Amino acid sequence: MLLRIEDLHISYGQVRAVHGVSFHVEEGELVSIIGANGAGKTSILNAVMGMVPSSSGAVFLEDRDLSSMPSHMRAREGIRIVPERARVFPWLSVYENLQTGIYGMRDKIDLEEKLSWIYSFFPVLEERRDQAAVTLSGGEQQQLSIARALVSEPRILLVDEVSMGLMPILVDKVFEVLQHLNREYGLTILIVEQNALASLEISHRGYVLEAGNLVMEGSAEDLMEDSGVREAYLGL
Ligand code: ATP
Repeated sequence: MLLRIEDLHISYGQVRAVHGVSFHVEEGELVSIIGANGAGKTSILNAVMGMVPSSSGAVFLEDRDLSSMPSHMRAREGIRIVPERARVFPWLSVYENLQTGIYGMRDKIDLEEKLSWIYSFFPVLEERRDQAAVTLSGGEQQQLSIARALVSEPRILLVDEVSMGLMPILVDKVFEVLQHLNREYGLTILIVEQNALASLEISHRGYVLEAGNLVMEGSAEDLMEDSGVREAYLGL
């Protein structure tokens, strides 16, 4: 098991957002956590990354307990997040944003080699290499955000609501690239999404999150065939 989360609880003051969630991701898997607005998806990813504190619970990468490790150390261990709404550095160029992806890494990474690989599936980032990131469209910023996470050769990529605010055609394109990275390069990916159909379609397994609790898990196929999931999350 590459990533294992045990009995995670997250509170913001009096607001209890996540109530004892346990799940795992195997090496080479693409796993989705689907759930409605406010279910706690972002909180879970941020806690895995160490960006919000958990009130209790544990995060293991392989058998190492990372629970007390700050987020920059977790990044060094190979966990990388593509945050909600991309969050690129607006006034840095595309290239400079990509450079920040390898900042602080323990092993020396050949950025140019990584970039020629990344440009092969995000060619627009090469075309816009010297432009400030703020001039990119929402979809291009999402591509940049994914690319910045990829340059560090992550062991697991956490992807937060990547479809938000994107036109359907771009959602398809971004999900296609994530699937390609997983199937062709074996990249382990954990996605949290409101767009349950798009994310389950490319996933091996999924979990359903309701009001801070995981209420269902299964193969992506089984979840997509479940009548409750179809009605509540797939609009079918
Ligand atoms: P969304 O799709 O809207 O991002 P989500 O499933 O990712 O939803 P979270 O953002 O994790 O859900 O929020 C879970 C719950 O925690 C919600 O009730 C939210 O209002 C609350 N919450 C999140 N962040 C904070 C915060 N910083 N302070 C107080 N409450 C918060």
